[in-house]
Amino acid sequence: MIITFKKDAPKEELEQLRSALEEKGIKIADASSDTVGLYGLIGDTSVIDKEKILAYSWVTDVTRITVPYKKASRQFHPEDTVIQVGDIKIGGNHPIVMIAGPCSVESEEQIMEIARGVKKAGAKMLRGGAYKPRTSPYVFQGLQSKGIKLLVEARNETNLPIVSEIMSSDQLDEFVENVDILQVGARNMQNFDLLKKLGRINKPILLKRGLSNTIEEWLMSAEYIMSEGNPNVILCERGIRTFEPLTRNTLDLAVVSIVKKLTHLPVIIDPSHATGHWELVETAALASIVAGCDGLIVEVHNNPECALSDGQQSLKIKKFEELMKKAEKLAAFTGRNM
Ligand code: PEP
Ligand code: MN
Repeated sequence: MIITFKKDAPKEELEQLRSALEEKGIKIADASSDTVGLYGLIGDTSVIDKEKILAYSWVTDVTRITVPYKKASRQFHPEDTVIQVGDIKIGGNHPIVMIAGPCSVESEEQIMEIARGVKKAGAKMLRGGAYKPRTSPYVFQGLQSKGIKLLVEARNETNLPIVSEIMSSDQLDEFVENVDILQVGARNMQNFDLLKKLGRINKPILLKRGLSNTIEEWLMSAEYIMSEGNPNVILCERGIRTFEPLTRNTLDLAVVSIVKKLTHLPVIIDPSHATGHWELVETAALASIVAGCDGLIVEVHNNPECALSDGQQSLKIKKFEELMKKAEKLAAFTGRNM
């Protein structure tokens, strides 16, 4: 980190800043000239609050040289992180993992039919929301504990590990006991209290990118989980909010290469929420494979017209089978299987 400041900085305040930094274990290399004050900070600057330094009226700039997300960064962990669930591995050069299922678990009949269908088509994991973050409090909020029970039943029959969204730390024990991968939804990406609690368990966390969050903010959220001791984080891009109204969100595919360069964590894509229309899901999914994602999470429904949430972006089972066939071919073409 580099701090530049005016040469007429008050001596006592400069001394105050120096000792505050030194107390945090930072060494200061003074490279000031006759006209400009310049400190090079040596040590773990992730503990430094940039805004606090900028609060001094005589400080002109504070620039980070190293990234503030030490645990997630590839700088300090060059090899890819591989997350294992049963015998399925996500990340590295392992096959691209397809996670599929309904937006919400709605009934036993519904989740069983979808679970059987996606398994037959080649999905490796089952998704299903039990606690649903809905924009309106007057619409279906999910089957909650009953939904988790139904997912467990579906896993018992199909052997597909289950992925479901945790909305609050009140649900932690239930999720740790029953769910294989805990999803943090876009709306909770910066629920720091929840992230810290998820850092104290060792189950994999699927961390969705927030609706309007930068890549650095997303990686800092991963850091919240990892800094508490849980290294099992999977990043999930699900589209970001832009000015474009014809899609629900805008799929940011450049994220795959950027995130893989910056971090060692696996990255998966959700083409369903990213586009918001079933007709757009297939191309978005195939493009994600070419972009180098480690997995996909796709909404599939046995009767989308009657779905209690996100029917408009859910693939019918037949359409999902077609997607799987194309995805398998394309994955092989890129040197990775499904
Ligand atoms: C979901 O997966 O159904 C969901 C609500 O996703 P997101 O948090 O990305 O909107
Ligand atoms: Mn959904």
